[in-house]
Amino acid sequence: MSKETRNPQVVPSYSSAFQRLEQALVAAEDRSWQQIQEEIDQAVKFEQDAARLTKEEASLLAEWLRRDISELLGYMQESGHGLRDWLRFDLDLLEARLRESLLSIADPTRVEQVRLDKQLAHGEGVYVQGEVALPGVLRCTQCDKMICLVETAYLDACHHCGGDFFQRVTRRAQ
Ligand SMILES: [Zn+2]
Repeated sequence: MSKETRNPQVVPSYSSAFQRLEQALVAAEDRSWQQIQEEIDQAVKFEQDAARLTKEEASLLAEWLRRDISELLGYMQESGHGLRDWLRFDLDLLEARLRESLLSIADPTRVEQVRLDKQLAHGEGVYVQGEVALPGVLRCTQCDKMICLVETAYLDACHHCGGDFFQRVTRRAQ
């Protein structure tokens, strides 16, 4: 996706779908991965109507959200480490509302309640240039250059080598 064809509404829609998901999960008793995926679809559907996203934009939004949530919950459950380690930078750098949502979804007591299955396998998520991602540190798979997202944003091609593919970096991987 070239920068010119990016819909500026997509990033705010991603953020508000994420917050909507947080609210749904706080209220939900069943927190299976199946249930989380249904909540993601509903949150995205709401954003699609509210922000008049195309069908394609909405399905990409759902896909990106599933990947970020899967990476986040998978990391919390496997590592037992907190959100700070997942992000690899200070939580204070995040916008307050986004920080609250992340902390809520990554709450260890909540992660414990999520019944993880194979779809939540952590560490396989590849991020591609032009996709939207939650904050954190990502590494170019081609040249190992790190990029730091302090807010939800579109991923640009690697500034160092022009590479298109990235993986999340967590402290555990060091
Ligand atoms: Zn690179």
